[in-house]
Amino acid sequence: MEKVQQRNIIPVTADREKSDSNSPERPRKRIFIFLLLVVCFVMVGFAFLLWWVPYVGLSNIHPSLPLLLAIAFGCMVLFGLGGALTLIFTIIRGKNLFFNRRIRGVVIRVLFPLLVGVGRCFGISKDEIRRSFVAINNKLVLAEAKKVKPNELLILLPHCLQNHDCEVRITGNVENCKACGKCRIKDLVGLSEKYHVPAAVATGGTLARRIVVEKKPKIIIGVACERDLTSGIQDSYPIPVFGIFNQRPFGPCYDTDVNLELVEKGIRTFLGY
Ligand code: SF4
Repeated sequence: MEKVQQRNIIPVTADREKSDSNSPERPRKRIFIFLLLVVCFVMVGFAFLLWWVPYVGLSNIHPSLPLLLAIAFGCMVLFGLGGALTLIFTIIRGKNLFFNRRIRGVVIRVLFPLLVGVGRCFGISKDEIRRSFVAINNKLVLAEAKKVKPNELLILLPHCLQNHDCEVRITGNVENCKACGKCRIKDLVGLSEKYHVPAAVATGGTLARRIVVEKKPKIIIGVACERDLTSGIQDSYPIPVFGIFNQRPFGPCYDTDVNLELVEKGIRTFLGY
C-alpha cells in the first residue's frame, strides 16, 4: 500500500515541476538570481581590491597612481562640498541657482533616502525627516518657481478631507461637491473656482499619478500626510510639488483638514499675484 502511495506521489511532483518551468514566475526568478549573483561578484571584487591595494601599495601598482587617486578623491570631495554649499545657499537665500532643478533631483533621489538611514541611527523618526524633507523641497520649489497660468497649476487633495458621512462621489470630479460645508472640500472647490485652478481628489498614489499624467501640470500644490507627500514629491519629479500637510484632529485618514490660507498663499505665489 505504501509503495502504491509513493508511486502516486512521484508523477504529481514531477508534473508540478514541469508546470513550474512554464510558469511566468520563472523568468522573474532568473532575473533576481542573476542580479544577486552580479551583486555578489561585485562585492567580492570590491572586498578583494580593499585588501589587495593597501597590501601591495599604490605606488607599487603604478608610480603615478597615488597622485591620480588624490586628484580623483579631491574632485569628489569638491563636488560634494560644492553641491552641499549650493543647497544650503538656496535654502537660506531662497534664490534660484542655475542648476537648482538638478539639486532638487539630488535631494529627492539621493539625499532623502540617505538621510532617513542616517537619521535612524540618531533616533530621529521617519516622519520628522519627512517633514524636514518637505520643508526643504518647498524652499527649492519656491526658489525655482516661475509664474504659471491657472490651468498649468493643479491642487491635488487627499480623499480623507471629505467628510466620512458624505456620499457624493468627488474622486472623478471634485465639482460634484454639494457645498454643504461639513468638510473643507467646499472651501477648496471655492478656491479652485476663484482662481480658475484645476483641483482633483485622489484616493491613493496610483490615482494621483494618473491625474498628474492626464492634467500635465507645471506645478502641483499637494495636500497630504507626511508619508504620502514624500512619495508624491518623489513620484512626480521633475514636476515641482509644493507640499502642505493635512491636519488630523481625528487621527490619520479620517475627516482630515487643511490650512486654507496656506493653500491660497501657494496658489497666489505660483500665479504671480
Ligand atoms: S462639503 Fe462637499 S464633500 Fe464635504 S461633505 Fe459636503 S458635499 Fe460632501
